[in-house]
Amino acid sequence: MGRGHLFRAPWWRFLCCVMAMLAIALASPASAHETELSFSSKCHATSDLSTSFSDMAATDAKWICSDDGWRADQPVAWLRFDARQWADADTPRYFFTRIARHKSITFGAVGDNGSVRTVEWAEADGRVFGAGPLFQLDLPEITQGTQAIIVRIERPHSLPLLTEAQLTSDPEASSWAMMDVILLAIVVGMLVLPLLFDISFFIVLREKFVLLHALMVLSMINYVLFAGGLIGVFVQLPVAVVSIVGALGWAIGVGLSALFLVTFLEDGAQSRRMQRLTVATGIWTICVPGFFALQFHATQPFDDRGYFYAFLPVIAVISVALIEALMRGSRSARFVAVAWTPIILASVERLLRGLGAYTGPSSLDQLIFVATGLEVVIISLSVADRFVDLRRQRDEAVTESKVLERLSERDPLTGLLNRRAIDARFLDLHRAGYETFGLIDLDHFKLVNDTAGHATGDKVLKVVADILDSDKDSIAIRMGGEEFLLLLRGENAQIRAEKLRSAIPIRVAQAVPELEILVTASMGMLTAPLQAMPNAVFEDIYSRADKLLYEAKNQGRNRTTSEKLKAFVRRKEDRRKGGGKTNKAA
Ligand code: GH3
Ligand code: MG
Ligand code: MG
Repeated sequence: MGRGHLFRAPWWRFLCCVMAMLAIALASPASAHETELSFSSKCHATSDLSTSFSDMAATDAKWICSDDGWRADQPVAWLRFDARQWADADTPRYFFTRIARHKSITFGAVGDNGSVRTVEWAEADGRVFGAGPLFQLDLPEITQGTQAIIVRIERPHSLPLLTEAQLTSDPEASSWAMMDVILLAIVVGMLVLPLLFDISFFIVLREKFVLLHALMVLSMINYVLFAGGLIGVFVQLPVAVVSIVGALGWAIGVGLSALFLVTFLEDGAQSRRMQRLTVATGIWTICVPGFFALQFHATQPFDDRGYFYAFLPVIAVISVALIEALMRGSRSARFVAVAWTPIILASVERLLRGLGAYTGPSSLDQLIFVATGLEVVIISLSVADRFVDLRRQRDEAVTESKVLERLSERDPLTGLLNRRAIDARFLDLHRAGYETFGLIDLDHFKLVNDTAGHATGDKVLKVVADILDSDKDSIAIRMGGEEFLLLLRGENAQIRAEKLRSAIPIRVAQAVPELEILVTASMGMLTAPLQAMPNAVFEDIYSRADKLLYEAKNQGRNRTTSEKLKAFVRRKEDRRKGGGKTNKAA
């Protein structure tokens, strides 16, 4: 696969189309909770724990009646819904808002005489919607004289819990539109497929990055299910659980992304320092935003900001790491950069909205789900690309190691195969018809070394190797020292072996004229027909041939002792002494 090829592939254009369609779907005003059946809060305020309902009902000075000044870092947040809002429509009966942790929510119905009727709900009383990251509570009864509903939220852990609070007369109308739910379901579907890919990749290629990617996808699925509220379709869970698991899923998913990046980029795409920094930020992101995701009441004054700000290091480090890898020409980094651009943009949008830089419709949250889905799909394609590449590298390495293995089966002095080669293939060769084995040892070779020197000895060994290797239907092996093994097949194998052995003195004398002594060789020759010994073991053949060679040496050297095996009975053979037939060279 050529470089950059994947970016020209049709899937790339397909992905752009999907993105465009999703953007159009998001832009359409599909959210049902913006209908006239719902009422937004008119005014908001914050206070310490001691401020009472009557304090709040009695004054206008404490209230902010605009979209500014929202805070989720005070012990108590107040919301006021004025009765004038619902004069012409149905009387609201329910309160609903964005899922986030809080200690309690108390409603106060303010009567025309200034009295306040209160109903208090604990966090566990919140009913999570079937779809959408929302929960609802029952309002106190609203009568003709009710002037306003004041809501006291103790320990609010996020801004959307306050900014998105609404009253409604119809709980159905306040859940997410079908379109939004389907969109989320599509995103989850987009995430499940890569998970299956990862599992099958991991089976073949046990790379750490595949595992990290699978874990990352799992946390993203978990995030979309919980933060997107889709989990409510399947199971009723408490507000605290949905709130914690969603936020935690995002922290873990982003942290894992950093760890994934380090293992996924090619060797050399990151400097050592950048690698360490990326790993450290990954762990930081799992731990620190992960901790704030738990939303303990003790950390409530700063956990909303803490959660968001704690993501800044990972955004910065990942961006710098990607730039570095791109500058070093990393192919994987190009995929990751494309995959993470939408998610970084959507994260920044969410970060700004979460920190209250501006208030936008909560359907904007869908952006991050869609970006997450896209990210996982693009990264999966990139994992597939990397997979193909690694597979090719491995295949090359296997080929290379086979070449090396072949080299290690050669004797460097003579170029003949060595003992290792025959050990590995004996059975195959025997079955391929190599039934005659001649074990050849040079006679008094020590004398050659002693009189003519080691270098001449080497020269003799090379000449002998050339002689033994000259028969095209035989294989010559150097067993070690001045001992050779001939494997022969075809017509007149024994005669051919004997010819090779007896050619040694003359051929060596011609090739090494400086040598004053005649070099002869002895041979133990064994014929082991495949039919007689279908499962012959090399060690048995070799030890039998060695005994025959020993006999030839004993009988005066420069001769061959041969034997044809009928059936191999090892113990009996061992007991026999000098049973071979001896040919003295002419
Ligand atoms: P025999 O007839 O009983 O086989 O006597 P031999 O001298 O050939 O037998 P021995 O096994 O005693 O000696 C073998 C000699 O072969 C000893 C060793 O120095 C020599 N030799 C082994 N490998 C090499 C080699 O690679 N190069 C050279 N030049 N000599 C070798
Ligand atoms: Mg010898
Ligand atoms: Mg020897």
